[in-house]
Formats: sequence, C-alpha cells, structure tokens
Amino acid sequence: MSLPGSTAQAPSTRVTPGADGARAHLLTAGSVDDYRRVLAAGVDRVATRVAGADRPFTGVTPDELAPRIAGIDLDRPLGDTDAALDELQDVYLRDAVWFHHPRYLAHLNCPVVIPALLAEAVLSAVNSSLDTWDQSAGATLIERRLIDWTAERIGLGPVADGVFTSGGTQSNLQAMLLAREESCARETGRSTERPSRPELLSRLRIVTSAAGHFSVQKAAKLLGLGADAVVAVPTDAERRMRTDELAREIDRCRREGLVVMAVVATAGTTDFGTVDPLPQIADICAAAGVWLHVDAAYGCGLLVSPTRRHLLDGIERADSVTVDYHKSFFQPVSSSALLVRDRRTLRHATWHADYLNPARMVEQRIPNQVDKSLQTTRRFDALKLWLTLRIMGPDAIGALFDEVVDRAADAWQMLTEDPRFEVVTRSQLSTVVFRYLPTDAGRDVVDEANLHAREALAASGAGLVAGTKVDGAHYLKFTLLNPETTRDDIAHVLDLVAEHAGWYARTTATAELSCPVG
Ligand SMILES: *Cc1c(COP(=O)(O)O)cnc(C)c1O
Repeated sequence: MSLPGSTAQAPSTRVTPGADGARAHLLTAGSVDDYRRVLAAGVDRVATRVAGADRPFTGVTPDELAPRIAGIDLDRPLGDTDAALDELQDVYLRDAVWFHHPRYLAHLNCPVVIPALLAEAVLSAVNSSLDTWDQSAGATLIERRLIDWTAERIGLGPVADGVFTSGGTQSNLQAMLLAREESCARETGRSTERPSRPELLSRLRIVTSAAGHFSVQKAAKLLGLGADAVVAVPTDAERRMRTDELAREIDRCRREGLVVMAVVATAGTTDFGTVDPLPQIADICAAAGVWLHVDAAYGCGLLVSPTRRHLLDGIERADSVTVDYHKSFFQPVSSSALLVRDRRTLRHATWHADYLNPARMVEQRIPNQVDKSLQTTRRFDALKLWLTLRIMGPDAIGALFDEVVDRAADAWQMLTEDPRFEVVTRSQLSTVVFRYLPTDAGRDVVDEANLHAREALAASGAGLVAGTKVDGAHYLKFTLLNPETTRDDIAHVLDLVAEHAGWYARTTATAELSCPVG
C-alpha cells in the first residue's frame, strides 16, 4: 500500500483490485442485493431506449461506429455499473437495430415477449447446462416436455423425440446427419460388395427446392458430401416445390446410381413465405423410401395458429422437422429445435465419454440430453418457451402470428393496387417480395433504383426492408413479424421506397440523356 503523500511507484506497492473485490461480482449468497440492483439498472436502460426509439435504426455506418468501439481500453475497467451502462449506450444501445419498432420490416426477427425475457434472466443466472442430468436436473425434464409438446403439435407419433438447438441451421445440419447415417447404413446393408465410405458419400444427394434455405448446402458441405450433392428442383408460380420435378429427379438419381438420402421440403420459404405441398411430397418420399425433412424454421408458428394450422397438413409424415421458436413464436434468439419421428435415429449424434455420459447411464435411465445433441455445454433456452406457454399460452402466440400473416395479406393487396410497384407472389405467411417500377426512361435502371432505395432507407433509419433476387433481378422484401405494424406504417414505408427509387431513376436517366452522343 502506498502511504498518503508517498511518491513511491514501485510495482510491488501498487494497489491492485484484490480477489475480495473481484469476488463481490460473483452471484453468491452474499451478493444478491447487488444482483437485484445491477440487473434492474440494465433493464431500466433497455426500457428507456425501447420507449424512446422513434425509428428502427439510426443509420449509423460501420465507419462511424468502429472507432468508438476500438477506442475502448479493455484492460482498464470502469469498475462502475452506471459508467459501463453509459458507455454501452454510446457503443451499442443508441444505434442498435430495434425489432420492436413497427417500421422494422426486413428480416425474420420478431419483437420478443416479456415472459421469455423473464426466462432469459432466470436461465442465465441459474446457468444450468443441458448436456447432462447432473448439470441441469429439472431443466432437462422441462426441455423434454417441450419437445414432446412440439412433436405432439406436429403429430409425429408415439416414438418421436428431439432436442433444442441453436437455430434452424443447426437443426438442418443435424437432420442431414441423421439422414446420411440412415442412408449409408441402408446402402451398405443392401449391396454385396460393400461400397467404401468416400465412394458412398460421393453418390449421396439431397433434393430440395430452388426456394429452400442455404443452410442445407452448408450442411452437405460439413457432412462431406460432394459439391453437387444438393439438387434444387424448380418451383411453381407460387414458389412451391414442383412435385412432378421432384419425382423426376428421384427417378433420375436412381437411374444414375445415385442415392437420394433426403428430401428437404420447406414449410415457409424464407423469401416467399410459401409452404411446399407437404402431402404430395410425403407420398413421393414414402413410395421411394426416402427420408423426408421438413424445414419449418419460419412456418412453425402455424402450429399454434387458431386459423391456419391446416397449412402444415402433411408435416406429421416427416422423418424430421426443424422449428425456430425464435422466428415465429416471438422468442429471443436462440430458441429452436429438431424433432424426429423415430427417437432411435438420434443415436447417430451419440458419443459416450467416460467423464460425462458413460454408456451405463443409459441403462440406469439417467436422462442426458448430450446423447441427442451436437452441442455439449448448452443453454437452457427451453425455459423461454416454457414460461411463454405457462404465462400466455399457445393460442395467444398463435393469435399474434395470425395478425402478422393478415398484415402481410394487407400489404400484398396494397402493392397489387399500387401502380408504382410490382409484387411477386402472395405469401402464405408474412413476407412480401416486390419492387419499384420506374416509369419509361428509368426502366433500365430498375435494379439499381431498388438497391438504392433499400440503402437510402436504411441510412435514414426511417424504415428497414430486406432485399433479395428473383430470377436474377433485384427485389425488395418485407418480412412482417410485428403485430404492432399497421397499414399506415406499410404505406409510409412504401412512399419512402418510391421516393428514393424514383429519385434515383429520374436523376440517372436524366444524366444518361444529357450525355452528349458520339
Ligand atoms: C431462418 C431459416 C433457417 C436458418 O435458421 P437460423 O435459426 O437462422 O439458423 C433455416 N431455414 C429456413 C427456412 C429459415 O427461414
């Protein structure tokens, strides 16, 4: 300790925060008052910012924000919660993208329900890990109940099972792992001269539609399949998988000695919100003996819809299903699951480690979720859905999802009646893909005008829309997941899009016209 007035600066006498000081930050029996105070302060900052957001985004650029974050010395703690929250306001909260704002119309991000936020606070404080019973106790059983509940909603039958995952990408990867292993086992058993594993992997194919999610391609790559393993069959005018093309593709593979290890149908395509014809696809898969995976990452909200559950008819015939509660159940990221019709297929994700989940535990019927998961240490994300169901109930969630689907139908109607725009297809869920059509002279800059409109709108922060490509051309996209979004909000954003795109088309066309010829 340096004495008052002392000028000695020898390192040996410098005061460093001792273990006692550090320990005060651990959540322990002695610190619960601090825990209450600190968390309340954080909640208060978020609440103030949520209440004050007059736009979904400030339009901040990476170049503006990066120096603020780079300038912080992470080796010099502020030592004070309020100071750290002030700083957080500056580097994050002020310029965050706010999904609760009614003019956030871009990606598959939902405003979140308060029961799930309560669960977030509980689950991270208790910090259960869902890999083994001895790290989670009741949390494991709660997750299992929710898996059973979801499987029952889907109608997967008496031996269904599943596991929570980090998202649709991981669910799809795991589904493809199970399908690959089932397929390899079948092929190896069937042939007399056992094919080598690499040879077999190179012949495996996954058939999906051109509107399927890219995570299927990533899964194929991670699973060691060939570069051309994913075959995308064409879609119809509604952007649903064409079943005649599917049947043709399965035939072609057979004739060429290829093995279709899975068909991936999409229940709610990310761009068009359309549901593939599940009953017909299930018929084709059953006849061909092919694993049917239904990617319902987006469309799973229909499971609780009071009026639209029928759109998922046929999903009960799937071998595996991806659901993202963090897309259409108004849950915070992450909250997702993979469901399977036959629980035995999950063994392909099992590895017994002596220190964690030795095989004898299975005989002792000790429930270790790591036996079913690609992850080891894993959050108790299931608690969010649990408290949501226990406080609000499934019908309330379904009613919220129905509202946004209705709103998307309104938006589609508004766009079809508006000569400034062209709209692609009517979504069964809550997306709308459209583009601004410049008049006459601007026609050849239609792509650029729409790209410009999206960027200019984001830079202003007044509204956020997404973009995508349809048959090679640039389009804009609304994904509506906020029941607070009104027709007026949509009309307002459409006016802004038309203003930005129209300005671009006019000025560019004028510039081209005024160019001296020759
Ligand atoms: C969003 C989405 C995914 C990926 O899910 P993540 O949770 O983002 O990993 C997969 N499939 C579809 C159809 C999706 O919309």
